[in-house]
Amino acid sequence: MKTAISVKDLFVSYHGSEALNNVSFTVNEGNLVGIIGPNGAGKSTLLKSLLNLISIDKGEVQILGKSIKEMRTKVAYVPQRSNIDWDFPITVIDTVLLGTYPNLGIFKRPKKSDKAWALECLEKVGIAEFRHRQIGELSGGQQQRVFLARALAQKPDMYFLDEPFVGVDVTSEETIITILKELRDIGKTVVVVHHDLSKASDYFNELILLNKELIEYGAVEKVFTPEVLGKAYSNHFPSMTAVEVKI
Ligand code: ADP
Ligand code: MG
Repeated sequence: MKTAISVKDLFVSYHGSEALNNVSFTVNEGNLVGIIGPNGAGKSTLLKSLLNLISIDKGEVQILGKSIKEMRTKVAYVPQRSNIDWDFPITVIDTVLLGTYPNLGIFKRPKKSDKAWALECLEKVGIAEFRHRQIGELSGGQQQRVFLARALAQKPDMYFLDEPFVGVDVTSEETIITILKELRDIGKTVVVVHHDLSKASDYFNELILLNKELIEYGAVEKVFTPEVLGKAYSNHFPSMTAVEVKI
């Protein structure tokens, strides 16, 4: 089993305030991994550190044995919906076409085959009929599916998604998780920031439980126990029981 992600002694802070403290773990290829933990635990920060989108204070991150700079085109990132400018005037199909650009190179125009592939990716997420709409005209779930289609269009080895199920309808959520599981089953590595514990054990086969420090990492059966979860959530919900987190 090849190592997909390796993080060693990672420290990140914002203006002197600590966000991640000495985080180390490795993820093998072909896993669907949930990053869970309370609000402000550093989940998004960890994702951005893996992608070199923020500067780290200390530590080492490797993607498939190389630096993220070398692997940039092999990795797709779906940011949190709230961080995307939905007023930007771009159609659904053009948003997906952007996903093919890492493979195209900057100065090449998309070919017919790229457009056909972008459409195929939109069909996969079930919203090809909206391809000529502006992205701002879609519902939250449809927008999330467009960004998943864009990630698929990139044909990466790894997918990183930040809170893809927030503000999303049930059909979109089911479509997205089904596709993520399919990607995992064909050997891709998929990492998802997810704050809602209720479905975490259905959705993921591995979990990273974070609260500034790494509380636990590994198979769902190992991490998703009242004892382990309590270590991350005790300050937030002193009375939390196994029933409340729906184990
Ligand atoms: P999570 O995604 O788990 O909710 P974040 O990674 O977004 O947590 O944030 C971790 C901590 O870092 C929080 O205390 C948050 O307020 C802080 N933080 C995140 N981004 C910034 C930023 N750009 N500037 C300053 N502080 C930040
Ligand atoms: Mg976050």
